[in-house]
Amino acid sequence: MNKHAPNSWEARADEHSFYGFTDLPTIDDRGAIVLTHGNGPYVYDVHGREYLDGNSGLWNMVAGFDHKGMAEAAKAQYDRFPGYHAFFGRMSDQTVMLSEKLIEVSPFERGKVFYTNSGSEANDTMVKMLWMLGWAEGTPQKRKIITRINGYHGVTAVAASMTGKPYNHVFGLPFDEFIHVGCPHYWRFGHDGETEAEFTARLAQELEDTIQKEGADTIAGFFAEPVMGAGGVIPPSEGYFQAIQKVLKKHNIPLISDEVITGFGRTGETWGCQTYDFVPDVIISSKNLTAGYFPMGAVILGPEMTDRMQAASEKFDEFPHGFTASGHPVGCAVALKAIDVIMNEGLIDNVRTLTPLFEEGMARIAEHKNIGEWRGKGLMGALEAVADKNTKEPFDGSLSVSERIANACTDQGLICRPLGQAIVLCPAFILTPSQMDEMFGKLEKALDGVFAEVG
Ligand code: PMP
Repeated sequence: MNKHAPNSWEARADEHSFYGFTDLPTIDDRGAIVLTHGNGPYVYDVHGREYLDGNSGLWNMVAGFDHKGMAEAAKAQYDRFPGYHAFFGRMSDQTVMLSEKLIEVSPFERGKVFYTNSGSEANDTMVKMLWMLGWAEGTPQKRKIITRINGYHGVTAVAASMTGKPYNHVFGLPFDEFIHVGCPHYWRFGHDGETEAEFTARLAQELEDTIQKEGADTIAGFFAEPVMGAGGVIPPSEGYFQAIQKVLKKHNIPLISDEVITGFGRTGETWGCQTYDFVPDVIISSKNLTAGYFPMGAVILGPEMTDRMQAASEKFDEFPHGFTASGHPVGCAVALKAIDVIMNEGLIDNVRTLTPLFEEGMARIAEHKNIGEWRGKGLMGALEAVADKNTKEPFDGSLSVSERIANACTDQGLICRPLGQAIVLCPAFILTPSQMDEMFGKLEKALDGVFAEVG
């Protein structure tokens, strides 16, 4: 039962609104943080408290919380043409222009874009496209989707089936045709005496064995995040994507790069696949696509998938799919502005400049005896709390160590997110070096307090 005063914001938040992914006993105890506004990388609650948001919302508010450009682009578009769909051969001029821009900034020399409202829907849409290709190409049994343990692809019934986290596998999910192969986290899953290159080779062999066992002619596609995000910020092991793509190419299985987090600069390049030097068949984008200023997702097909979808659509006369707000003109206008801001106002350059400072801060904190490793790429990172640094043994789950750290951070005026036993940082790209110092200073204080209690 919420202990907060009747009619307080905390009690009112609880009474009529659901939270997502929220530990309800903690909320009963501490109350919701009800926010009113933001300024740069800071957000403010109804009591006037300031928080540096170390997670930039949910990885997405990369231009900060008060960038005027996106608001002005939205206002201008609301005044001009406030809403339309992309059904029945119609679409707004903004939608046309955004697709042109997305193909221009993609690693593809040509391609085509389908719009959704979220990353989950974009993954769901891609699965339906793959299934449609199977039907159109005379291989209707090609339905199985391979993803990885700890991969995160969203929460719709299909996207949750793709996700490789046990907490998403509830209520009868995952569906049968969703297969999860190994997670490329060498520190956690490498065997004793195994080199990182041997670990990667073992994962590639596991993928090969899985394809053989299931039957290559039953596999529709393989989805992977360049850096796993919500699974705990896990960069791939050395040579991972090259080894995996070789196996997929051999069996003609498309590689879909889920760049919902890594797209538009998070790892220091426009796309995570560029950071890891591979060209996928499809890119899934969302979040930074609008710098978080509008809900939008996009499926960006490369040349081969475009041609296959074109032929399949002609066979069925149409692709029977679409959301009311697919390609929403205001969303597209906001996305066009966000892409311009991220790519031309120095935001990706800032990620590159800040990365060494970020790495320094993470490495300093990782010296603590209760931090097993820090990992990350660009401006996304995680610190893994452990009871024993040598054996990598995690803390007893009942201690809720990472939740306690996140709460202690909140008390310091820093928002950061617990994920398993890790603490995640993924600040906005507009952070200044002194705000970076502030972030690590607050985190260090919080960690010291919690580890003094449990360590
Ligand atoms: N894919 C990835 C890689 C994600 O990180 C997320 C969200 N965190 C999603 C898909 C789902 O996006 P959404 O929450 O917009 O449905």
